[in-house]
Amino acid sequence: MRLLIAEDHVHLSNLLKEMLRSWGYEPLVVNDGRAALEALRRPDAPRMAVLDWIMPGVDGIQICRAVRSEPDRPYIYLVLVTGQGGRQEMLDGLDAGADDFLVKPIDAHELKARINTGRRIVELQEQLLATQCQLREQATRDDLTGMWNRAMVLDILHRELARSVRERHPVGAIMADVDNFKRINDTHGHLVGDQVLRQTARRMMSMLRPYDMVGRYGGEEFLIVLPGCDAATTAELADRLRQAVAAEPVPCEDGEIAVTLSLGAAAWDGSEAPEATALLRVADAALYESKHGGRNRVTLGNALAQGGRALRP
Ligand code: GH3
Ligand code: MG
Ligand code: MG
Ligand code: MG
Repeated sequence: MRLLIAEDHVHLSNLLKEMLRSWGYEPLVVNDGRAALEALRRPDAPRMAVLDWIMPGVDGIQICRAVRSEPDRPYIYLVLVTGQGGRQEMLDGLDAGADDFLVKPIDAHELKARINTGRRIVELQEQLLATQCQLREQATRDDLTGMWNRAMVLDILHRELARSVRERHPVGAIMADVDNFKRINDTHGHLVGDQVLRQTARRMMSMLRPYDMVGRYGGEEFLIVLPGCDAATTAELADRLRQAVAAEPVPCEDGEIAVTLSLGAAAWDGSEAPEATALLRVADAALYESKHGGRNRVTLGNALAQGGRALRP
């Protein structure tokens, strides 16, 4: 583990460096407070630091306070070292944000034990953050397709509609549903059905711009949110999605399976207070029309009625 040593006494900093290296750490040495602060503010800052209290420029206490005033950064375990072992110094050091406190002359065994304790805490925190990140990913992603899940894509739609009012730009929404998917499942089995869904999702995702958002809305139904797209552009993109899926059969373990999509497109012009449910209702009704009209097609719903309220097409 990388570790910062901030100590203005060069002989002592060299000694610390050698000790820490022999215990398996990668020490980075600086000899004044300003350099220490700079190193701890870098994006790749070490996660542990041994800080001398009294140094030219910025002292150890100030470094502790500065580091703790940036709570969004990864946690850095701070050990403050001082020549004065008074109770008040210890309390002031801990109050400034130090995790531990050592008095000079430094006892090598004690330093090693305290640094190892810090390392355990830093590693524990890293594990917790990794788990948190994984849970967040699981809570927002659809396992099968890797798209956003329903809750997340709805959240995105709400956010984009709110933004469309602030920034006065339109938002498009497309509902896409695989045609006769039950038949694919019935004919080839559920596992092949899953493969078809995955491939279909992949084709759709490959057609979108980086800032378009697509989620699995239901079993074989997808919701696409298109920031900045008016009704005509949304309908055009819906048709490109349709073509991308229908152009070639999907390869899977049973051979190749022809897949088509029915789509409903709708857009909000960003001029009035938006309603996600209203926009979804319009897209859904348009999708229903595409199904009714024979499938493998796009219908554009009329979301831009007077007064900014979405109406059924
Ligand atoms: P339509 O053209 O009217 O949409 O017909 P459809 O057969 O696609 O629609 P229906 O709603 O009758 O059937 C959808 C099927 O999708 C039923 C359900 O078992 C299947 N399904 C839902 N989720 C999954 C999934 O994750 N994997 C697989 N393999 N099938 C799924
Ligand atoms: Mg000093
Ligand atoms: Mg379907
Ligand atoms: Mg469906």
